[in-house]
Amino acid sequence: MNKLVLASNNAGKLREIGEILAPLKITLLSQRDLGIPEVPEPHDTFVENALAKARHAASRSGLPALADDSGICVDALGGEPGVHSARFAGEPRSDERNNAHLVQVMRGRAQRSAHYYCVMVMVRHARDPEPLIADGRWFGEIIDTPRGEGGFGYDPYFFLPALGRTAAELDAADKHAISHRGQALAKLLGLLARS
Ligand code: IMP
Repeated sequence: MNKLVLASNNAGKLREIGEILAPLKITLLSQRDLGIPEVPEPHDTFVENALAKARHAASRSGLPALADDSGICVDALGGEPGVHSARFAGEPRSDERNNAHLVQVMRGRAQRSAHYYCVMVMVRHARDPEPLIADGRWFGEIIDTPRGEGGFGYDPYFFLPALGRTAAELDAADKHAISHRGQALAKLLGLLARS
């Protein structure tokens, strides 16, 4: 495999996946650059959404495809926004409005625990009966004042007590070494090496 389509239009994710996979000798193509539109994500589970995205990109491109479905799951909100993280504050998608909404719904709540979840699905072709599937979880707490300029999405509000920093205060390489996405991709590469 020397070409892989990334089934996402999320700039933050694309940058991070590109950084993590940079050491591999694979040409990464984004579906947007190939003119492939986004597919709806109607499912209640991350893995179903990721599989739908990967299949769609593989079917439209004729190439192997990798999809990331991810989100932030907040315990005090019963796991929400979860699969709805990208559109927590509605359409159009906006990290700024999502973060403002998160701060608002968490106001006055003592329970601050949350985790990021990421599942990566790779298909060799659109009808691949054995997709490679790997996931990762990253635990932290929601704070109400943003800190840091790095990362994307909810990162300035995702605090890591053991490090005393938010995800947005970590260097990119430090985030990838421990993040939900970094964990999922490391596992996926292990599966790929054994497949
Ligand atoms: P998806 O495209 O449906 O998988 O949406 C994922 C959403 O989850 C993103 O738009 C972000 O809001 C959030 N998210 C996932 N991973 C991260 C991360 O590493 N940092 C910050 N936000 C994230």
